[in-house]
Amino acid sequence: MSEERKQLTSKEYKELLIKRAREQYELIRKKQESDEKFVEKTNILQKAKSFGESMVSRGLTNKKAPEETKNLRVLSCHGSEELGLPPCADRKDSRKFENSFYCGACGCGDKKMTQLVTLVINGKEQYSKLDFPKVSCPLKMPGFSTYLPSQEGVSENSRKKTIEDKYGVEYIKKNST
Ligand code: SF4
Repeated sequence: MSEERKQLTSKEYKELLIKRAREQYELIRKKQESDEKFVEKTNILQKAKSFGESMVSRGLTNKKAPEETKNLRVLSCHGSEELGLPPCADRKDSRKFENSFYCGACGCGDKKMTQLVTLVINGKEQYSKLDFPKVSCPLKMPGFSTYLPSQEGVSENSRKKTIEDKYGVEYIKKNST
């Protein structure tokens, strides 16, 4: 029995243990809170960086991604009946534009420039998210600059695998920007 324990009544000792447990809990809670804030800050910075890179790639002349790249992005976001590939679960119905969608995972929101389909407004085709020469996808899907091939047993994504089986990883790497 420790000296400390010997000098305390069992009630005092119990209270001491509870006090220490509370202090321990408070320390863990504060650490967790600061870790969460750090992750949140990093995510915001990462999103701002990705958005900045997309804008730079578009340039002043509205440059667009090649057709092969855009086709891969279309499959990633919208799926394909022919391949039995459903749309991405993060694809959201736009509340601002009829029959259109936006990505609910990247944090860009429901804006004209972030639509996943080409809008036609006043007879003019609009620039969509899938047109940027460089654009990221939080799920690292084919066609996007963040594309990461599936790894068996490590990153299982059946939608990504379906596209890889159809086009091959090398083709997708070459056309993901
Ligand atoms: S997560 Fe990727 S694939 Fe899914 S909607 Fe967003 S950009 Fe498209």
